[in-house]
Order: sequence, then structure tokens, then C-alpha cells
Amino acid sequence: MRALFLAKCPRCRRGNMFVKGLDAYPFIGQMHTYCPHCGLRFEREPGLWQGAMYTGYAISVATMVGCFVAVYVLGQDPATWVYISTTVVVTLLLAPLNYRYSRVMMMHWFAGIDYDPEAEAGRRHGA
Ligand SMILES: [Zn+2]
Repeated sequence: MRALFLAKCPRCRRGNMFVKGLDAYPFIGQMHTYCPHCGLRFEREPGLWQGAMYTGYAISVATMVGCFVAVYVLGQDPATWVYISTTVVVTLLLAPLNYRYSRVMMMHWFAGIDYDPEAEAGRRHGA
């Protein structure tokens, strides 16, 4: 989970998947082609990032539901435009994070890459 949160390579858990860290928000979306530590090619197959769109969709829906519930609880059931505007603004503000973590989750959970201590130690390099 720590490697996932920090957007580290799923194989070595040391190399960064993205060029910039969260401190560069919202410009955090540019990925390395290969892991800078172990050389793993991040796009394992064509269409892998299309699969990440489904993960991003799920994150967006969860964000919207969370916003609706928060507005309902905190705003004591305000007018409809408050629900809609709050949800749109929050979803747009979190879009760079959604983009980033949808790809990270796709790599860690669905790309079939296991942690390799040899890669972490730097003894295995390449795709
Ligand atoms: Zn790596």
C-alpha cells in the first residue's frame, strides 16, 4: 500500500512511476516509460491505460457519491445547485490525482506484476 500511495514501481517498489511528485500538483501526470530503478516497462501491453480509464471512472463515481453525502450532511440538504456545483468543482480539482492513481492501481492490481526483491536490490534490470 505504501508503494501504491507513493506511486512506486510495482516490481521494485523503489523507482518512481511519474516524473514529478505530488508537490508539483496539478502537473503530476507525466510518466516514465521505464522504471528508473529496475527498468520495467510500465505500459506492459497496448491498451493498459485504457483499462485505467475504468479505474478512474470508479474513483470519479466514489468521489461524486462522497461529495453528495458530505454536502447533504454538512449543508443540511441544501438546494440542488449546491450539490451539483460542489461535486463538479471537487471532481475537477481531484482529476489529476484520479488520473495518477487510476494508472498506479492498474499497474499494482491488474497488470500481473509481482514484487521482486532482486529488482529492488538492483540485481535485475530490464523489461
Ligand atoms: Zn522498478
